[in-house]
Amino acid sequence: MVAVSEIHLDDVSKRYGETTALADVDVDVEDGEFFTLVGPSGCGKTTTLRLVAGFESPTEGRVRFDDEDVSGVPPEARGVGVVFQNYALFPHMSVAENVGYGLRFVDPPDGESRRERVERLLDLVDLGGMGDRAPTQLSGGQQQRVALARALAPGPRLLLLDEPMSALDAQLRERLRMQIKEIQSELGVTTLYVTHDQEEALAVSDRVAVMRGGRIEQVGTPRDVYHRPETRFVAEFVGDNNLFEGTVTELSVSPDETEGLTVDVGGTEFRLADEKEEAIDVGDAVTFCVRPERLTVGDGDNRFTAVVESTEFLGETTRVHLDWEGRAVTLRTPEALSGSVELGFDDGDARRIG
Ligand code: ATP
Repeated sequence: MVAVSEIHLDDVSKRYGETTALADVDVDVEDGEFFTLVGPSGCGKTTTLRLVAGFESPTEGRVRFDDEDVSGVPPEARGVGVVFQNYALFPHMSVAENVGYGLRFVDPPDGESRRERVERLLDLVDLGGMGDRAPTQLSGGQQQRVALARALAPGPRLLLLDEPMSALDAQLRERLRMQIKEIQSELGVTTLYVTHDQEEALAVSDRVAVMRGGRIEQVGTPRDVYHRPETRFVAEFVGDNNLFEGTVTELSVSPDETEGLTVDVGGTEFRLADEKEEAIDVGDAVTFCVRPERLTVGDGDNRFTAVVESTEFLGETTRVHLDWEGRAVTLRTPEALSGSVELGFDDGDARRIG
């Protein structure tokens, strides 16, 4: 049984000379949660993870595990297991010795012997019976699973994973991420995961923090950040999206009492349901987004006609790029489309982001 733990970053900032790597980051990761930091290169994901691991200390603010301030606690005393992108295994040691290395300073938890513990972890990462192999006799995905077993061997209270699969090919990544997710939920170990890959973040996480420029833009479940982006950055970073800019011409309350807006986009009026709390008024500039899979052909409350410019066949769906009076629009559909197409979306499928 692995001890679980909460991670709290309280208003953490981290500066390197003139560079602000993190600014006022407030994050609360719950017991047993699979929590992912996602964002473009340089946004501060690795710095956040290194602060939690104890390889760095905050310039301001503090890091807590449960109620304990660990800001001054060295990495080896924090009880965290870490797997990096290229966390090279020791080539001169067998697979089992590599996993056992994680137990050099601590006794195995639950009264197991070292050998039992190593065997159990190799079984857990699906490498049972491979303990005598050399790391060079394993595939890249198998090697990363050994690195995971090594990190888990001492029964850490937290598991920290920094782009653990970025060196692997796409198919292997998909398989391995589901394996990591299964192992994580089986053990119930609180996990902080770092990736720049938004699809990966949505696929594995209980909750996601989208980061940008050293700050957190939004924290939520994968469904939240995908369907209810709060900022333009989140709307554009997480998945394909269509952004429309216009002016509010009417505020309304529809029969089911959903608040609504009418927005003029270049002379075409659209009706949108509006669940965002910030007040808005007639004459205000507004930006809203509609997911490509929510646009339909010849259907929906709001209609406009766009011209197909190019298509990408993706197997089960096709991504269609269209031009609507100088605006780029993307649609996902199983149909083959060309020429002028009337597109539509329902008022509830638009989300105001600014
Ligand atoms: P990537 O996905 O490329 O790894 P990241 O989101 O993990 O990026 P960080 O590595 O956390 O980003 O870096 C955040 C910012 O802090 C960047 O501007 C980076 O250049 C800067 N930075 C990180 N470490 C240091 C350091 N040791 N000294 C100076 N600047 C640093």
